[in-house]
Amino acid sequence: MAEYIKYRVPARGVSATKGVAELIEKAEEDGVKTAWHRLLEQQPQCAFGQLGLCCRNCNMGPCRIDPFGSGPTKGVCGAGADTIVARNLLRMIAAGAAAHSDHARDVAEVFKGVAEGRLQYYRLTDVEKLKSLAETLGISTENKDEHEIARELAEVLEGEFGKPGDEPLRMLALAPKKRIKVWEKAGVIPRAIDREICECMHRTHIGVDADPVSLLLHGIRTSIADGWSGSMMATYLSDILFGTPKPIKAEANLGVLKEDYVNIIVHGHNPILSTKIVEVAMSEEMQELAKKYGAKGVNVAGMCCTGNEVLMRLGVPIAGNFLMQELAVITGAVEAIIVDYQCIMPAIVDVAQCYHTKVITTEPKAHIPGAIHIEFNAEKADEIAKEIVRIAIENYPNRPRDRVHIPKHKIEAIAGFSVEAILEALGGTLEPLINALRDGTIKGIVGIVGCNNPKVRHNHSHVTIAKELIKRDVLVVGTGCWSIAAAMDGLMSPKAVDLAGPGLKKVCETLNIPPCLHMGSCVDCSRILIALGALAEALGVDIPDLPAAGSAPEWMSEKAVSIGTYFVASGVFTHLGVVPPVMGSQKVAKILTEDVEDIVGGKFYVEPDPVKAAETIYNVIIEKRKKLGWPL
Ligand code: SF4
Ligand code: SF4
Repeated sequence: MAEYIKYRVPARGVSATKGVAELIEKAEEDGVKTAWHRLLEQQPQCAFGQLGLCCRNCNMGPCRIDPFGSGPTKGVCGAGADTIVARNLLRMIAAGAAAHSDHARDVAEVFKGVAEGRLQYYRLTDVEKLKSLAETLGISTENKDEHEIARELAEVLEGEFGKPGDEPLRMLALAPKKRIKVWEKAGVIPRAIDREICECMHRTHIGVDADPVSLLLHGIRTSIADGWSGSMMATYLSDILFGTPKPIKAEANLGVLKEDYVNIIVHGHNPILSTKIVEVAMSEEMQELAKKYGAKGVNVAGMCCTGNEVLMRLGVPIAGNFLMQELAVITGAVEAIIVDYQCIMPAIVDVAQCYHTKVITTEPKAHIPGAIHIEFNAEKADEIAKEIVRIAIENYPNRPRDRVHIPKHKIEAIAGFSVEAILEALGGTLEPLINALRDGTIKGIVGIVGCNNPKVRHNHSHVTIAKELIKRDVLVVGTGCWSIAAAMDGLMSPKAVDLAGPGLKKVCETLNIPPCLHMGSCVDCSRILIALGALAEALGVDIPDLPAAGSAPEWMSEKAVSIGTYFVASGVFTHLGVVPPVMGSQKVAKILTEDVEDIVGGKFYVEPDPVKAAETIYNVIIEKRKKLGWPL
């Protein structure tokens, strides 16, 4: 149903990505609202919420603290600004860590099913990685077949979620030893993923932990459980099941949708279903079926991180990042958008009702009213994938041909730079990278990650920071919606070396890599941790000593809060381009941007201006180089 558009969006200014403006204009012509329209309707947003000063943790509230001190300074229970802000942040970290880790649990269950020979549609693809992880976790692989190793590994990994006792997480064996010492000293070694998340909720219940320092330290502990175990497990097991990514060419942006094909979008995060959809859709049977319905075939494109998963392993084109999910439907050319979980706007159902698109939810934990729900079950993966693809094909004749508009823009990108792929490009050893860093050919490495947020110009900060850094000879790696933004801007094409400084350009040309490397989906921020850990160990230093930094220029999700916190916990100087809801407490803001550095070696830095942010990040890198005695 067309809606009354109360506030018009200045379409030409809201995005740095080609094709977005024309679809926002089309949305308004079609009477369809997008996230940008709804953000305008939300203005003015609650200042208490923006400052983190609102508490709803019990029914004596909600309580709000007056940031100017002339109104209430305490909630009904007596909690002040510092407690409330820290508690709210801890709950964000808990939710983010839960999302990543529950995703890992789902992959681990499929992995266990494969190990036990119960799941016919999945297999162990990267056996080398399986063995290497097993050995790192202390599982002997000698004289054992791959399924036996996998069974033992599955048992250990199951324990990561809820093992009893105070023993550290087993996956911490992947972290550098110097880091472990820092975490031990700070008392933030995580014991079990679910336990730390559960403790976040307990501590933030009315009348438990009121000390902002103690609350934030538990946030650090929980985030480490996410980064070094939950997310790490999702990455490792996805690689073992579907293959460790290698450089692969694909196309990016909404122009990957095809006029005469059945277009299917896979959206969400988990590769367990999306990989199957791609396999089934590309089968001769489904391609032929599409022809019977008048199409030339079936075309699958990705969105957000499940898009990244199938992009980096199968070369599936990527249609866009978080803020483009509604726009894909607004093209009028998408027969089905198939979602698993995380970052799926419930609004896609409303948008889809204005066209012919079927929204198909598949996860028992992620229903959306108005969508078709076809529950996924790994035991019947291929049958379910076929049923879903068939629905999309049968919907092709319903396409509203007079309302179809697919932007022309698409661009080639190279994705799939796992740590293993980077090592392979380097000739099997970190030495060439270390030498280039040491002699200043490359000044440093920055991991850029995270979301889109309609509060800032779409993809502008993502690409601006990346360009500002590569021109200063800083190698940029990244994940999530940043990597899609960079791909759509051409920064993942070998031609982007022309935007790099002379040193980085030389290295990229020698290795035949772009200056911005796609390392995967949100959970694959764990690959950045592994890369930094390996570099630090090879140099005999700790991660905070490296000329490296992190950035989340357009973050919005709770997962991004957890990622940012585990970057800081891992010793990384971490930039946030959107102000987090902590400014209601000077104490909490100071801990996060100053004091935490003395505890774990990393800290947050908040700067909305991407050019200024890149300058500061570069200066931090130069300071680290000075301390290492490396040329500037
Ligand atoms: S926990 Fe305290 S501050 Fe929060 S709502 Fe209850 S009374 Fe208010
Ligand atoms: S980067 Fe952010 S918006 Fe994008 S898929 Fe990940 S959590 Fe969602």
